[in-house]
Amino acid sequence: MRTVRISLLGSTGSIGKQTLEVVKACGMSVGALTAHSNVARMEQQAREFSPELVVMMEEKAADDLRVRLGDTSIRVCSGMDGLLEAAELQSADTVVTAVVGMVGLRPTMAAIREGKRIALANKETLVCAGELVMEEARDFGAKILPVDSEHSAIFQALEGCNHRSQVKRLILTCSGGPFFGKTREELSSVTKADALKHPNWAMGAKITIDSATLMNKGLEFIEAMHLYHMPPEKISIVVHRESIIHSLVEYCDNSMIAQMGTPDMRLPIQYALTYPERVEGPATPLDLWHCKPLTFAQPDVDTFRCLGLAMEAAKRGGSAGAVLNGANEAAVALFLDGKIGFLDIADRVQYAMETVGILDNPSMTQILEADRAARLAVETM
Ligand code: NDP
Ligand code: MG
Repeated sequence: MRTVRISLLGSTGSIGKQTLEVVKACGMSVGALTAHSNVARMEQQAREFSPELVVMMEEKAADDLRVRLGDTSIRVCSGMDGLLEAAELQSADTVVTAVVGMVGLRPTMAAIREGKRIALANKETLVCAGELVMEEARDFGAKILPVDSEHSAIFQALEGCNHRSQVKRLILTCSGGPFFGKTREELSSVTKADALKHPNWAMGAKITIDSATLMNKGLEFIEAMHLYHMPPEKISIVVHRESIIHSLVEYCDNSMIAQMGTPDMRLPIQYALTYPERVEGPATPLDLWHCKPLTFAQPDVDTFRCLGLAMEAAKRGGSAGAVLNGANEAAVALFLDGKIGFLDIADRVQYAMETVGILDNPSMTQILEADRAARLAVETM
């Protein structure tokens, strides 16, 4: 296997911790670790993986960590400058983007410009600025490998396909989340605790709420468009409650290629790091004799309006993705703070989409401006 040394942005989160399990199991090494404010976990990770650099987004957390790591030679930095330094770290060949939210955009662009392999978990980056990110990756010869399980499945199902014109459609599977089958009336009274209970995956709070509203599938729809240069009409979504098939590609001859496995993120994380090779790893094997029957259903876009809003943003293009994402990040934060109800998330995102002007071919500055305007619209509605 090629030697892998990673810079891990968002090491203390769900994807971050699972990435470190893969690193340990597969004999890879760590150049840099970053987090927002979780100093205790960062200290423990830094002692275990001995990176050159650790970064805390919060200044005070970095001061605290510097004291805690005073007996080591590990350098501690803070803020966006620190995050950019981790993304550009010379000794790392691969950058894993596992921070949550569009804060991942600048470091991802910085890593691309250094020609790093990007193991991309941070889907918000592609939703906001997919065209600019993919263009930059082409110009700088940086390879973007998907960590998101659906996109990893599509990546694997596309292997060996030399002519994209032979692809009829990409089919993203969707677990349906904790509220599958519920009516709008039932959803009006669900609580934060209900929404944080995902049936199949243990993930960070923001993506768990996105999975409950189905916005996550909408973000993944836009992510797939950019990663695989597919128009929206060639992407479909199927509800598959068991999360065993992680997504499919349908070819022009009507053959469908699916990728299967247990719902275990360590598998797509590992493949993004070892590609094109496969090595033994920590992911749980799938026991076909004992797995549940596989079922498929249509998503309910009338009840789960976030999915429909995201598909509209996908069709609109331009800065619509940045508006959708900024509005959603702000609305989910308000919901997690107990300030708005579950159904208000879609109302507020829709309001932002209707009131913030959408631009064609936006520059990076215009994307950041669209993000700010969308957050403001949601917070002041
Ligand atoms: P978590 O919330 O579990 O972890 C987020 C990580 O980012 C933590 O290390 C956190 O640090 C750090 N962080 C949070 N806010 C900031 C900030 N403002 N600046 C810098 N760092 C920050 O998220 P997940 O691991 O669940 O998700 C990470 C990304 O991966 C998301 O984009 C998500 O959509 C995507 N993804 C996740 C999947 C999953 O199974 N979890 C599956 C597919 C995609 P701290 O701990 O200090 O707060
Ligand atoms: Mg996913």
